[in-house]
Amino acid sequence: MSAVAFSRLNFLYQAIEELVSSGIKGKLALIHSYCKSFAQIAEKKVLRLDPTIRRRICKKCVILLIPGVTAIVRHRSKRQKHKVVTCQLCGTMRKYYDLSGKSFSIESNTATGNG
Ligand SMILES: [Zn+2]
Repeated sequence: MSAVAFSRLNFLYQAIEELVSSGIKGKLALIHSYCKSFAQIAEKKVLRLDPTIRRRICKKCVILLIPGVTAIVRHRSKRQKHKVVTCQLCGTMRKYYDLSGKSFSIESNTATGNG
């Protein structure tokens, strides 16, 4: 475990969240650069990110997904309860099933996760 890498990821995550929360207009290049370095550090150090954090990053355009700002979240309960998260920048859709008892929320604001 690299404490330096984790603290760097924590800083980057909080910086990205702050930038995205205050509106992405005019800051997209900076946000994208932060998100890319976040993904690169996690990949290079082979770190296991918490699912709540992993699910908040678009797999295609590598940007933080915040509902209402960069993502649309729809809850569906026709067959099995799930939610569909759509990236507003690239249109990529991801489906997450509701596994009762397990952490499911993308709206939670935990930067460090549970482990
Ligand atoms: Zn995307």
